[in-house]
Amino acid sequence: MTYQPSRRRFVRNLSLGLGGALLSHPLLAACSPREKKLGIALVGLGSYAGGQLAPALQETKNCYLAGIVTGTPAKEKIWADKYNIPQKNIYNYQDFDSIADNPDIDIVYVVLPVFLHKEYTIRAAKAGKHVICEKPMALSVAECDEMISACKQANRLLSIGYRLHFEPFNKEMMRLGQQKVYGPVTAIHSSNGFVYGGTDNSAWRLKKKLAGGGPLMDMGVYVVQGARYVTGEEPLWVKARQEKTRPEFFTEVEETVYWQMAFPGGCIANCKTSYNENASILHADAPKGWFEISPAYGYGGLAGKTSQGPMPFPHITQQAAQMDAFATAVRTSTPSIVPGEEGRKDMKVIEAIYRSLDSGQQEKV
Ligand code: NAD
Repeated sequence: MTYQPSRRRFVRNLSLGLGGALLSHPLLAACSPREKKLGIALVGLGSYAGGQLAPALQETKNCYLAGIVTGTPAKEKIWADKYNIPQKNIYNYQDFDSIADNPDIDIVYVVLPVFLHKEYTIRAAKAGKHVICEKPMALSVAECDEMISACKQANRLLSIGYRLHFEPFNKEMMRLGQQKVYGPVTAIHSSNGFVYGGTDNSAWRLKKKLAGGGPLMDMGVYVVQGARYVTGEEPLWVKARQEKTRPEFFTEVEETVYWQMAFPGGCIANCKTSYNENASILHADAPKGWFEISPAYGYGGLAGKTSQGPMPFPHITQQAAQMDAFATAVRTSTPSIVPGEEGRKDMKVIEAIYRSLDSGQQEKV
């Protein structure tokens, strides 16, 4: 038997295709001029903003790169020239709050180290802007709560930079698991990591106060959410242990973490994250079959198969799909698919994993 995506998906893809064809008609295209796109300002012009988000914003249909916030004056001209950003839409960390007076900016996208997520999310909401905040959402659940409540108070939407919720292979894992296509998922194994090379450990990612932790915060967050969206459940408890092969390098944060998560429906997830191994897999077993994606969590080159055969999905620019979906949520005043509450749920699990690393015991989530 060959692998069959759902009929509903097929019909939806067909209608999206037709919709695309209609929108590309010159008369209809004139109805959605560039001015109608929502303006996004990127805060923090590091490797993710420069390497992924700005290029993705050249593909987006509902939003565009309208502004930047940077503490490095040399980057201003480079970005302004490359992306045609007017001087009035360029801010630094001191004058950032005056973004409140700029109608070009609808959405602020916080792409800073984790310890700055809370501050800039709250400042953006207070400036009247909708917010996308990168993962992991914050240093703690308590910070997540402050961010969610500040956005609620300002009546602004808050979204997390969870690109995989918009990615076809991961969406199929959600469908197969949550709809119990092969029966209820009984076991998951998942791993996500990369080799953190070099000898300089001064980067913010290796500082507990700046990153909140090591690979668990950075890469393990995807494993936590992968198991959560395959089961569609919240874990009851976790049990974790860690391993260090380079303790002199990983002085403040973990190097490799293994953990188990138990879900209410009976599924046990065996998980791993590491700064010492290249890995990216999400595999699920159920009574009537199995399904997996590998690579599972990267920006591209994802592949999937089930016990019935390969998954036939196209490659997409995940960040473009994610930002377009948020722009639509803002326009239509509907909740984000990945709101702050979703980031908070992952942080709750991550906190339990750190507690288990400390106690050596099973910890309730
Ligand atoms: P980076 O180090 O390349 O960039 C961070 C930026 O923040 C730099 O431009 C830096 O100058 C600026 N910055 C401002 N104040 C700073 C301070 N006090 N200390 C250090 N830097 C400061 O990091 P990155 O890889 O671009 O990551 C940024 C955020 O994006 C993180 O939250 C990270 O987890 C997230 N991220 C998400 C994905 C994803 O797939 N969603 C991928 C990579 C990174």
